[in-house]
Formats: sequence, C-alpha cells, structure tokens
Amino acid sequence: MGLTTEFLEKEQITQVETENSEIFELKDCIGEGGQGAVFKTQRKNLLVKLSISRDNSLNKIKSIYRRYNNLRCRRDFPAYLAKPLCEIAPIERNDHIIYGYVMELMEDMVSINSLFRKNNENPLEYINRMGGIRRMYTILRKTAEILDKIHSSGYCYGDLNPNNVFVSSDTNYNEIQLIDCDNLMIASEFEGMIYYPNYGAPEVVKGLSSNNAITDTWSFAVLAFYTLRQVFPFNGLLVTEANSLNLSQMEAKAKFAELPFIDDEQGDNNPPSTAYPIDTMETSELKELFKQTFEKKQSPRERPALFEWIEALQHGENSFVICASCGAHYLRHKANKQCPFCDNTSLKACVVIQAYVQHGNYVELCGKQTIITQNNSAIIEIPFKEYQMLKVEMSFNNTDHKIIVKQLTSEEIPTKWVIERITAKAKTAILPPEMPIRFSAQDGIDNYLIFPSYTFKIDNNEEELHEATGIIRFKYRGTNG
Ligand SMILES: [Zn+2]
Repeated sequence: MGLTTEFLEKEQITQVETENSEIFELKDCIGEGGQGAVFKTQRKNLLVKLSISRDNSLNKIKSIYRRYNNLRCRRDFPAYLAKPLCEIAPIERNDHIIYGYVMELMEDMVSINSLFRKNNENPLEYINRMGGIRRMYTILRKTAEILDKIHSSGYCYGDLNPNNVFVSSDTNYNEIQLIDCDNLMIASEFEGMIYYPNYGAPEVVKGLSSNNAITDTWSFAVLAFYTLRQVFPFNGLLVTEANSLNLSQMEAKAKFAELPFIDDEQGDNNPPSTAYPIDTMETSELKELFKQTFEKKQSPRERPALFEWIEALQHGENSFVICASCGAHYLRHKANKQCPFCDNTSLKACVVIQAYVQHGNYVELCGKQTIITQNNSAIIEIPFKEYQMLKVEMSFNNTDHKIIVKQLTSEEIPTKWVIERITAKAKTAILPPEMPIRFSAQDGIDNYLIFPSYTFKIDNNEEELHEATGIIRFKYRGTNG
C-alpha cells in the first residue's frame, strides 16, 4: 500500500465529491506511485486520481486545478489521453489536503501492468495474454506515437510507467490510452523530478535534470524492454544473485543505472537470469536501440529519439512470419528457423499489408495492418482525395507467388510500383476499374504501390494547400522463407 491509500484508509475516506457535487465511490486502486493513486469508481469508465498535499495550502491546490483546466481545454492533444474531466472538491484532514480529478477511460481497457507476467508463470501464458509478440510491437509503437505527439506540442508526460498505459482487453483490438495526464507539463516549465521506480532516467533519479522529452523517451525504452523481456535492463545476475549483504547496494546501483546493461556483450558480468530470450522477442533494429539507450545511459543526447523507436517497431510489425503448425507469429532468424513455440519450421504463406498516407516527411498509418492467407482476400482503404477513400481488393496465389490487386472505382488509376532493395526505380502500373492486376512478389521483400498525390487543406480557413500521397505496402511471406 502506498502513502495515498494508507492515508485514505486511516481517515476512512471511501468516497469523494466533485466540485459539481457528484459523488464517486472509491473502488479498487489500480495504480499508485509518488504522485498519488488511481481508483476505479462505481461508474465503469470513470476513474478518480487522488493526491495528498502536505502543506495545507488551498491556494496551491487552486493553481493545480487551473492547470487541469488548461489541459482540458487543449484540443491539439492526441485523443487517447485521459485528460482531467472535472475536479474533486478538496478535502482537508489533519493538516493535509486531498485533491484530484475524474478522468474518462475508453471501454474495456486494462493497464499493461495488470497483464505482466505473474511469478513463475509459463512465458507462453504472458505472451498469449498480450495477444502475441506482434501485438506487443503494435502496442508499444502506438504508445510511442502518443508520446511523440505530446512532445511535438511542447509538453512532456513525466511519469510514464505500465500503470498509466491502458490497452484494449480484447486482443483483437489495439486501442491505447494514457491516463494520469495531470503531470503533463510544458517541457520548459518542468521544475521537479518525477519518476516511477525502475522507469526514471538516471539523470532524473540522480536529481541532475528535470523531466523532459529525452527522459520520457528513456522511460519508454524501459517500458518497451520490460514488456518484451519481462525483466528490467540492469537487473541481471549481479542483482538476482547478490547475497543479502550487498543486495540493497546492487539494487541501488540498478536504480541509478550504474550496473552493466544485461545484454551488454563487452562487460558480460551482469547477464540476464530470467529474461525472455532476446532473439525471440527483439528484431535486430530493436536490439540496437536498446543497446544505444542502456549502454549510453549516462549521455542523454546520444540516446535514440522517439521517432527511431516508432520506425523500428513499425518495421518489426512487418517482419513476423506465421508458423504453419501452431499459428503463432514469430521473428525468423537465418541461423535458427524453428518456431520458438513449437519447434516446427514450416510457414503459412501470407501477405502482410499496411496502407498509409505520407505528407512531407510525415507518415500516418491508415487502419491496422492486414494479413491475408491463401484463399482469402481483404479490402484495403487508403485516402485518395481529400474526401475520398479508395477501395482496393487484395488477394494472392501461392502457386505462382502472385499478389492480385483490384481497385474498385470506375476510373483508371495510374500507380507507381517500387520494390525495395531490388530496384529504386518505380515501374508504372495502371489499375483499370474492377480488373485484377497481378504483381510477382519475392519472399520477405517490401513492395510499395504509390497512388497519385492529392492536395488538401489542414484548416478550411487556410489558403495553403498540402500534398498527400496514399501508399500500400505489401510483403509476401512464403513457405520457404
Ligand atoms: Zn509454431
């Protein structure tokens, strides 16, 4: 139990009232840190966050509430931030003030923390609960994208940890929502240091720097590492095998990131003891980002930026193969082609498809990644004109490795077909209305179908026209892989 829940229990506070006199019963506490505690309430999708102020100054609370109000009014924040909805009427008890706010959660969401591995549980149970390794990549990528949007508004999040990241409980959906956004601050105004144990950047934990976008990115890297490997980056054998005499010393060193990174090949005196296998969980691109982050731990500016994480995770989502025997999605290695879950080596042929729209250097994914297997097809929608989506039906024939593309408008559409690494030159491919066109595809190579660019206005009152291009990326994964 943390300080906030302890205090509420001692004072027998079981419900709070908003400033509009609406009553909220405090049910289960779903997360608690130095910043306060978050509770479920009698209203299914409404949570209450409570904190305690010890200096008994109502004026200070009023200024905090003005900040909540300011956050509530920001319309440029990503929709998936649970912003303060209304404030709790402050309660004064024993020279302390309890304050906080109500926030709205999307339907059927659970915290990532509640999904993490329980003691001695079979790793497969955890991976299944997360909806497979590929879904972990999607969850992490979307979390990074939300964080990146917060940073591009000039704010920083501050307290990223698995209690604050919520994900759809149904593994067929990948919604993400960040709660506990009251710490959101304009990065340059962040004065104190806040962090959740094990998630704070070393410069924040040591008190050398206040929170900023770089320290948020460190917390994200820890979240990604823990989600994939179920161990913290510095909790290797030096910590797990420390005897009781120097355990607290080793734990303190791990906290300040003063131990070697567990995957560090040079100083291999702190290898992982209980981590999930690196080759099963990480692509080579991710391995490199973790290495750069956790080996360059004391040089914040040398660490990878958030956009590099987003890109690597996105590439990762595209790199999985499907086991023909157990149906799991896994990362295949040249040296070891066995499925890590059933040891089978045969693959189920499939095509991985993702539509996105590019404007300038900005790439926005459209809908979720689609995977088709032999004998089924999918309709992919991509933005085609400012207010028009283009429907494209895609299927494939595994005998001749042909991808079949049919667009469903009544006009002829010229596209460019680019094959990654084989030729940088685009071929022109005309897609006639309702007529299937066949593209030959090599195993594991990305193909891009680039549609004609269109212009749009970001704001209707604005004169300036922006250009956007819809793109379908598809990759065939065969049985020989
Ligand atoms: Zn398998």
